Amino acid sequence: MPARWKKDNRPPSLQQFKERFPDDHACAAYLEARRWPNGFVCPSCGSCTGWRLETKRWTWECRDCGRQTSVTAGTVMHGSHVPLRTWFLATHLLATHSNGMSALQLQAKLGLGSYKTAWLLLHKLRRAMVDPGRSTLFGDVEVDETIIPFRTLDDPVVGGQGRSHDGKITVIGAVELLEGNKPGRIRLEVIPDYKGPTLKGFIERNVERGSHIWTDALASYSGLRGYQHTARTIKNMAAHVVMPWIHRVFSNLKRWGLGVFHGFREKYLNAYLGEFVFRWNRRRSYKSAFDRLIGIGVMIIPATRTEIMKQAA
Ligand SMILES: [Zn+2]
Repeated sequence: MPARWKKDNRPPSLQQFKERFPDDHACAAYLEARRWPNGFVCPSCGSCTGWRLETKRWTWECRDCGRQTSVTAGTVMHGSHVPLRTWFLATHLLATHSNGMSALQLQAKLGLGSYKTAWLLLHKLRRAMVDPGRSTLFGDVEVDETIIPFRTLDDPVVGGQGRSHDGKITVIGAVELLEGNKPGRIRLEVIPDYKGPTLKGFIERNVERGSHIWTDALASYSGLRGYQHTARTIKNMAAHVVMPWIHRVFSNLKRWGLGVFHGFREKYLNAYLGEFVFRWNRRRSYKSAFDRLIGIGVMIIPATRTEIMKQAA
């Protein structure tokens, strides 16, 4: 992932973060403003009248139905025992660190006693990296597949690279081509096979109809409807020459997996892909990445540890 940024787009420093969010109260006030920009709205009955309780932290009570709502209820922070400011600091670190970090690194940075807590925090925040309302790719779009090695050991890796890989999984990717032959936004997904419906399904979910799709000559792509489609035979020419950007994305993805996580784990590969896509698509807007992450975090349906583990399986 490119680590350079322009001067006016530098991510906020840790000092700036501390000034903006000195304590849990500041975080709660920020969340309140994000959730209820026009004032409190009861999630139960929709009433706009209520009051903040003195006795319960960051909690509002609806005047009409009496329901009490915590500012974190129904957000990515739902039911968490981790202090708000720790959540915010984790979000700041993930949003501003150009490569992100492993649960082990996050645990150390936050000074958390438990690896499990750091792991869960990270996975919940990763879910907030996939905006459910994101728009599809558009225009000229390169699509290709790649093989990603993964490791299967369940225990956290404590250090040392070069672990032998335990298996391989197939990933499909798409990248928008912008003017001046620059890469735009990307999408990545794990796929079970190379069959037509699988590959075309990915394109239909992620690329707007009418776009121009560039692929290799794999037969599964043929008969793609609703798009312009150019399939090029890659014979003597290397694939990275014919479709340079999707291959750049794949090689960055693999390097990132090795560098930050000492290799991906199969079980959570889709979550890692979501994080990679978030980082790539916001690589020029570090400044807003924090607000974006919290913004999605207050919208998505919260998941428990069990659900996260089940979804990954
Ligand atoms: Zn109500």
